[in-house]
Amino acid sequence: MAEPYLGNPKYTIEVLQKYHFVFQKRFGQNFLIDTHVLGKIMAAAGITKEDFVLEIGPGIGTMTQYLAEYAREVVAVEIDQTLIPILKDTLKEWDNVTIIHDDILKVDIRKLAEEKNKGKPIKVVANLPYYITTPIIMGLFENNVPIESITIMVQKEVADRMQVGPGTKDYGALSLAVQYYAKPVIVANVPPNCFMPRPNVGSAVIRLDRHKEKPVDPKDEKLMFRIIRASFNQRRKTLVNGLKNARDLNYSRDQIEKAMNICNLPLNIRGENLTLKQFSDLSDVFCEISSKNTLAR
Ligand code: SAM
Repeated sequence: MAEPYLGNPKYTIEVLQKYHFVFQKRFGQNFLIDTHVLGKIMAAAGITKEDFVLEIGPGIGTMTQYLAEYAREVVAVEIDQTLIPILKDTLKEWDNVTIIHDDILKVDIRKLAEEKNKGKPIKVVANLPYYITTPIIMGLFENNVPIESITIMVQKEVADRMQVGPGTKDYGALSLAVQYYAKPVIVANVPPNCFMPRPNVGSAVIRLDRHKEKPVDPKDEKLMFRIIRASFNQRRKTLVNGLKNARDLNYSRDQIEKAMNICNLPLNIRGENLTLKQFSDLSDVFCEISSKNTLAR
């Protein structure tokens, strides 16, 4: 097998020129041109010859070459038709890679894991297109795809939001959603000059290890997330007002205050100060209200 060579900018430029490739901003195309960063991603992802890896958005195949070296098998899903012939060329020396031309949000990844990994948890590795970072991650978690870990390059600010806890300015619905499903660890910060073209923002590699057992067990997961979203919709308002003003929740101020009392939450608390466990407990109380209507309006 050949050595991965595309991390070197010289070869990336050669490939781009050979195919007269035009970058598409709408697909979030910023290709990696730094072997050091690629090494760090491989180390963080902990890929071995046992692993089946799904790569999202292979671009011209830079990281794919590395993944093909380290993994048993790789499937890479790329939306941009013009990259498909390029990928066939740059990956021709690796026989353990399959390229799928599709939108990752439309791919049945569960079926893929079934076919390629006998339904066992897979590893996902990607330098994500930043315009759809959240839908991709939440799609992987919420659709019950068997996932072991997700190691991804994202906007630095988004990585921070995923990792922080209560009481910080970056803490929000994304932090809680990610931490409900996985343990996040930022493994590297990556400056704009490691990409071609350079993005306007800093980036970070974050690894999300899926929990074997979720840290909380709400009676109604969807209700818990509706409450979480409502709490952060109006960041500067108290939790009571956030919940009262939420369009998709239908509780009176009296019900909200009673529920908060049951959970020992002060009435002037803001959503950004609640832990995942507190949101879970609160949603369980609301669940009771909805089902039994035990608290008078
Ligand atoms: N992995 C390459 C690298 O590191 O050099 C390219 C990363 S670039 C940030 C993101 C890639 O995702 C692009 O190749 C882009 O065309 C692709 N992409 C964008 N939206 C996609 C989607 N919905 N499904 C699959 N691929 C997508």
